[in-house]
Amino acid sequence: MSKPVVVRFAPSPTGRTHLGSGRTALYNYLYARQTGGRFILRIEDTDQKRYVPGAEQELIDSLHWLGIQWDEGPDVGGPNGPYYQTQRREIYQQHARWLVEHGHAYACFCTSERLEKVRQEQIKNKQNPRYDGTCRRLDPATAEQRVAAGERHVIRFKIPPEGAITVRDQLRGDIRVENSSLDDMILVKSDGLALYHLAAIVDDHLMGVTHVIRGSEWLSTFPLHGHILQAFGWERPVFIHLSIFLKPSGKGKMSKRDTAEAMKDGHSIFITDLSQLGYLPEAAVNWTALMGWSYDDHTEFFTMNDLLEKFSLEKLNPAPAAINFTKLDHFNGLHIRNLAIEDLARRIRPFLEQAGYRVDDSILLRAVPLIRERLVTLDEAPRWIGFLFQDEVFPASEDLIGSKMTAQDSANAARRALVVLQSLPELTLQTAEPLMRQLAEELGLQAGQLFGILRVAVTGQKVSPPLFESMEIIGKEKVLKRVERAIKLLVDSNR
Ligand code: GLU
Repeated sequence: MSKPVVVRFAPSPTGRTHLGSGRTALYNYLYARQTGGRFILRIEDTDQKRYVPGAEQELIDSLHWLGIQWDEGPDVGGPNGPYYQTQRREIYQQHARWLVEHGHAYACFCTSERLEKVRQEQIKNKQNPRYDGTCRRLDPATAEQRVAAGERHVIRFKIPPEGAITVRDQLRGDIRVENSSLDDMILVKSDGLALYHLAAIVDDHLMGVTHVIRGSEWLSTFPLHGHILQAFGWERPVFIHLSIFLKPSGKGKMSKRDTAEAMKDGHSIFITDLSQLGYLPEAAVNWTALMGWSYDDHTEFFTMNDLLEKFSLEKLNPAPAAINFTKLDHFNGLHIRNLAIEDLARRIRPFLEQAGYRVDDSILLRAVPLIRERLVTLDEAPRWIGFLFQDEVFPASEDLIGSKMTAQDSANAARRALVVLQSLPELTLQTAEPLMRQLAEELGLQAGQLFGILRVAVTGQKVSPPLFESMEIIGKEKVLKRVERAIKLLVDSNR
């Protein structure tokens, strides 16, 4: 039997949680769940300068919202903790020491001023900026004495001077890099805290990670990771670097400006924004799952359960994926229509409340079927059905005038409609609609002309859910009052 799968999502709390992180977490989660493996959440907070307070909470909120759970992590604990890298300082130092003692790393005492000078020099000479190896050439015993004396230093990895390394990405195959092109990267900073490259490799090993599924921004330092693993003599996990996201035009990555522009259009690359903008987590999951993975060439609707069944690493696609917000809207519509009425109502409610409506659940439950087919995002709901939760509506008198009609004709038509509606023992779709159609004919009007007047009168808006169903929900008494008021407005506007 092969080893059980252990995967991890290892974000750095350095900013907002975007689609890329959501997708990486999702794929890891799916793979763990479908193989019966473990999913670890590890917070890679070694870069204290870039630490953003609140970022971790946003991350956890985002993952919860998407429906992603982990088996081990800072909040849930587990046998491989601590799960904050800043709490694993000594572990990295021990490992760094081991590397130094075994000739795979060395202390470097160069000051940042000197390094900067070397860099400028190299740039001037059209060389790739890299560490020039000064401290690499120090006698190890001397270096050790200087370290023991407390001299400020970093630990650098010692890339073998000759040869090459081959690392394997499951999606891209073997990647071979000449050692001469690699830099002696810093593993431990002068404050004693390890950098990502050492910390992640050590943690993945100690936590028993079998598959590293991560963003492709780590491809460039992947050979270094291969070297570190080799130096320790550790088995290499399977590495998978996911595709990068491009902006909707497909030209380059989303910039800060693109992100702001998208937000103006009601779109966002940040997970917590998506919920505010009225997207369902189901849609966000479906959408992100398909950015870099496909099941076949036509299936596009996936729930989390579908994905748990159908996801596979083999079908991941390393080609860059352009972010397509139209697709997100499309998926949102599909998933909205996949929800039971009660469920959809429960999700719409907060948007109505936020828009200032006092929501009556029985009305909401009757209204939701009327808009279910039309909604693209939940935040549109107040515009569609807000009028159902108001005592009165306030149409503009010019909106009450029927198409190609005068105010007076419109008032007359509304008066006739009022009489008919008043006469109904009960106002329902079945009782009202045929009579209103008949009335339109009697008045020599298109049904749409009359309905348009009544729609604005009753709902206060030109676009609304189906008119007679809406009337049914509002109730006869209120409908009559609204029509009466509309007549008055039309008459007044005609004076
Ligand atoms: N901390 C890294 C990041 O934020 C994780 C990279 C990895 O998964 O190895 O992207």
